[in-house]
Amino acid sequence: MDAFESAPVYDCIVLGAGAAGMLCAAETAKRGRRVLLVDAGERAGRKILISGGGRCNFTNMHCTPANFLSENPHFAKSALARYTAQDFIALVQKHRIPFHEKTLGQLFCDHSAQAIVTMLEAECRDAGVETRMRTQVLGVLADGDGFAVRVLNGTLKARTVVVATGGLSIPKMGATGVGYDVARAFGLKVVEPRPALVPLTFHGDDAEHWADLSGLSAEVVATAVPVAKQRVASPTFREKLLITHRGLSGPAVLQISSYVRAGEKVRFDLVPEDGVFAPMLDSRAIRDAQTAYGLLRQWLPARLAERWLELNLPADWKNASIAALETQLHAWTLTPGGDEGYAKAEVTAGGVSTAELDSTTMQAKRVPGLAFIGEVVDVTGHLGGHNFQWAWASAVAAAQAL
Ligand SMILES: Cc1cc2nc3c(=O)[nH]c(=O)nc-3n(C[C@H](O)[C@H](O)[C@H](O)COP(=O)(O)OP(=O)(O)OC[C@H]3O[C@@H](n4cnc5c(N)ncnc54)[C@H](O)[C@@H]3O)c2cc1C
Repeated sequence: MDAFESAPVYDCIVLGAGAAGMLCAAETAKRGRRVLLVDAGERAGRKILISGGGRCNFTNMHCTPANFLSENPHFAKSALARYTAQDFIALVQKHRIPFHEKTLGQLFCDHSAQAIVTMLEAECRDAGVETRMRTQVLGVLADGDGFAVRVLNGTLKARTVVVATGGLSIPKMGATGVGYDVARAFGLKVVEPRPALVPLTFHGDDAEHWADLSGLSAEVVATAVPVAKQRVASPTFREKLLITHRGLSGPAVLQISSYVRAGEKVRFDLVPEDGVFAPMLDSRAIRDAQTAYGLLRQWLPARLAERWLELNLPADWKNASIAALETQLHAWTLTPGGDEGYAKAEVTAGGVSTAELDSTTMQAKRVPGLAFIGEVVDVTGHLGGHNFQWAWASAVAAAQAL
């Protein structure tokens, strides 16, 4: 017999006990609803635990809709305005979790990301959420006025269902595409998922030129250069670039990876200061590779400065050539071979199309009572706490309507 055939009907079943699912379950239960939270894992909040280097960058004080990518950049506005970084900070303070600002408004736990998981578990427990771990979700079906959730060993029934199963990033942490499958089964469009916030790999000769400098880093300004005419240039990110043995990483590269599509170029201003070679334009200056290296060395690690000059050495040291060298330095352009895939991607871009969802309730417009929140939705944040802020904001928006 079906393990849960005689199971009670819940007001709401939340699929996925990650950041979005846990907060949504707690907030929904606080509204007097009978809520079941299910997850395939042994424990809740596994990605929270590994986030922010183990300290969880749980929000960003400067979070705005401009920090997100989506086919519809307006979609996230409503939820983000109704549950702000300040709201989440108030929750963290209520639980007396010590935190600090690291840089650019990014807030981290002082000690461990475990504090955020413990906080969300306490919120769920206090609100009376029932939790069922080690429960693999296989699919969701319409069932009378509500839904039937198919799990590995039975069926669970509820009036409403919230899909908070995340994206495809880090499969070893339990990521599955079930959220997309559920959307497609109800005829909802899914924007093709792709790895984002992910290291980029070298293409062709670039590996030969740069891979042996693995470990070197520099502060750069990164931009994606779209090939397709209908796509606009990406924002710029002034952050660290790190050379790896496979390609490029570091915050600047992770940020820009979300905007680069196959075959498109990335551009770096390797020294975001004007006039690096300007002293060579003086008529009394020595004009040679050694002098150029000495100037560049003031800004870049020695081996990176040396290699870059080797590969970009001008034919002569006339004013025009020095000016061209300066221009090249501020527009180092590469076509990545690809990226390191879901195994290394912090998030998944794309997902359930926002065109299908009501931005106030997160419910599918054509399937009332079925909501999608967090990373499974086609809303992807920049690095720096924005993805968690979207998880919190979309969770609360959904809860308020259930
Ligand atoms: C290494 C790393 C570091 C990160 N650091 C940060 C950071 O510091 N700040 C930040 O803002 N963002 C960070 N992120 C991104 C952030 O973790 C995610 O955006 C966020 O966790 C998404 O929340 P979610 O609840 O939508 O999905 P998830 O947290 O992925 O939760 C989804 C849950 O669904 C469950 N699930 C999936 N499929 C099934 C199924 N078939 N049946 C049952 N359960 C299922 C999973 O077990 C999981 O518990 C980081 C990501 C990674 C990988």
